[in-house]
Amino acid sequence: MKIVLIGAPAAGKGTQARKMIAKYHLAYISTGDMLREEVAKGTPLGLQAKEIMAKGALVSDDLIIAIVKERIKADDCKNGFILDGFPRTVVQAEKLDELIGSVDNAIYIKVSDEVILERITSRLTCPNCGASYNKISIPPKKEGICDQCGSALTQRKDDTYEAGKARLATFHEQSEPLVAYYEKQGRLLTVDGEQDADTIFSQIAAALD
Ligand code: AMP
Repeated sequence: MKIVLIGAPAAGKGTQARKMIAKYHLAYISTGDMLREEVAKGTPLGLQAKEIMAKGALVSDDLIIAIVKERIKADDCKNGFILDGFPRTVVQAEKLDELIGSVDNAIYIKVSDEVILERITSRLTCPNCGASYNKISIPPKKEGICDQCGSALTQRKDDTYEAGKARLATFHEQSEPLVAYYEKQGRLLTVDGEQDADTIFSQIAAALD
């Protein structure tokens, strides 16, 4: 199974991806996580990506395509994978089709801008295992500590109101056309991302099964 997740920042892509991995045993590929790792290590790629990410813009198609091209060759991708945050432009989607034939499903998690901005500014993330929380609606059991791995939770540098607004604008301009792209291919599943996470997952699982 080859799946791509489409959705604005904080739409719940990571949360649904985790649930899908557990059920379908797929590799999880988050281009955002991969870039944040490069930034943390201070590699040339990380240095290049750092400012672009902080502004809420996109790194170049060529750069991200090269990263994904290598990643999907890895052994853990043989049984299929979930791409979270890639493709983010139609050029990336066309390149992905060239690389793998086509995806099986594109899942669009649809959430209003108002809810997205609320979620972005109250999101807490685990820098160790990637788990995501919300200070208001999904707080960790112990304040500031990840339920999954016990690490200290942080706020992503681009999870501010200003960067969030820029990321949302980038989503509408550059990533939303992917909805029409996959709809035309007959591979699109749209789910209402404002329902609770388990309800969303049961709708996704019903469609995939
Ligand atoms: P994310 O964690 O998916 O929200 O990604 C964080 C940031 O990484 C984005 O705001 C972009 O700057 C960059 N990024 C992640 N994936 C891509 C992509 N497929 N194309 C371009 N930039 C990306």
